Amino acid sequence: MAKARISFHGAAGEVTGSRHLLETDRGRVLLDCGMFQGHRNDADAKNRTFRFPPASVDAVLLSHAHVDHCGLLPLLYKNGCGAPLYATPSTAEISAIMMADSARLQEGDAKFYNKLHAAERLTIEPLYGEDDARLAESRFRHCAYGQPFEPVPGVSAAFLNAGHVLGSSMAQLDLETPGGRRRLVYTGDLGREETLLLETPQPPKNADYLVIESTYGDRLHEPLADASGKLAGLIARAWKEGGRIIIPSFALERTQEIVLIIDKLRHERLIPDIPVYVDSPMAVSLTEIFNKHRDGLCFNHKFREYARHDGDPFGFAYIRYLRSKEESQSLNNRRGPMIVISASGMCEGGRILHHLRNNLEKETTTVLLAGYQAQGTLGRRLQDGEKKVRIFGMEHEVLARVDTMHSFSSHADRNDLVAFVKAANPARGTFLVHGDPDARAALAGALAAGGVKNVRCPAMGEAFDLD
Ligand SMILES: [Zn+2]
Repeated sequence: MAKARISFHGAAGEVTGSRHLLETDRGRVLLDCGMFQGHRNDADAKNRTFRFPPASVDAVLLSHAHVDHCGLLPLLYKNGCGAPLYATPSTAEISAIMMADSARLQEGDAKFYNKLHAAERLTIEPLYGEDDARLAESRFRHCAYGQPFEPVPGVSAAFLNAGHVLGSSMAQLDLETPGGRRRLVYTGDLGREETLLLETPQPPKNADYLVIESTYGDRLHEPLADASGKLAGLIARAWKEGGRIIIPSFALERTQEIVLIIDKLRHERLIPDIPVYVDSPMAVSLTEIFNKHRDGLCFNHKFREYARHDGDPFGFAYIRYLRSKEESQSLNNRRGPMIVISASGMCEGGRILHHLRNNLEKETTTVLLAGYQAQGTLGRRLQDGEKKVRIFGMEHEVLARVDTMHSFSSHADRNDLVAFVKAANPARGTFLVHGDPDARAALAGALAAGGVKNVRCPAMGEAFDLD
């Protein structure tokens, strides 16, 4: 009799490191291969070893291009996996940039650490290098939304739009179990009901099993409309005072959303012609991919209409996209009001650190945080109102105003998640992954209160037979 089971090897009781393994008699399908993110030693131990032999995997399905979903693919292939890697075309394109960047960061990080600790003979090794990232990239097989494919014999699969970031998908898999043919849907990360750019997540039909994220299982987001009013107010003040608005931003999705809001405010003549600089080579490359795919079905109708009408939704007379270091440094000598959008989003590295270092001690500066700030990051310290922070070993007094836009999120909130599960109506079981214990427990409670049965919160390494 056909056997089938699913096991959870990451993002089980935590947010990062998504890796789930679906096994049938005829093959093993890995759903995502994400990196654990956290403090160096803890994360390194979790990332370095796989809980299954990489060579035993027959197919990999990638939901989207965030590093906590794709960031360990280069290590998987470096360690002997030979499987094809299925993803939507935009996910493949964006992941290639993300994996190469992750390799470069690790190589740079190791070089710096090893030099610093040379006297103590302490060394660290990067998990993988740029060659391994290229190896993973060479395994991609593009599958558009809705296009059927067979990752292993006897399993038919298709990607559905997940509405989370450009190219993001859910995996719908039909497979044989002892009880008959069943449908399992893995959501990856799930978008919100309403976003600026993307189409609403596509609810699956006739699901028997659902594996769903629970990042914001305990929270409700503010409405998106609040963001433009707030930004317009801050721009008016910066214009009057000749100050800078510095926005630490994730290069994928958040940067493009903020640029689009500014573009719209300009069209509606609600803001003056304030210069805008997008200072992040990765954001520049990703925005090019957004432009290339802007007629794609991933985007919502409203955005596609706007883009057709506007012609250049991420460009206008006063915006400059900066790639080179020299262009970035030249911003220090410019006077007058401006907006600088730069990475990383939690101020953990990248060019944003230079902008903060040079401008935190000015009262006319506004630091506008536009996303989740994890514990222990510089972004979080600023958000918590710390008056002195260290950057590159130097202490800086914070005279700048620090503000947060809470309405940005690429994740479904509790109400969105509950509505999604009810619409999918998985008859045989719902597995909650990708959430801290509190968020996950809150979502499990909300689902139970809503009459959803068979909700499970798998532990790390736990396996379940599917029937
Ligand atoms: Zn994500």
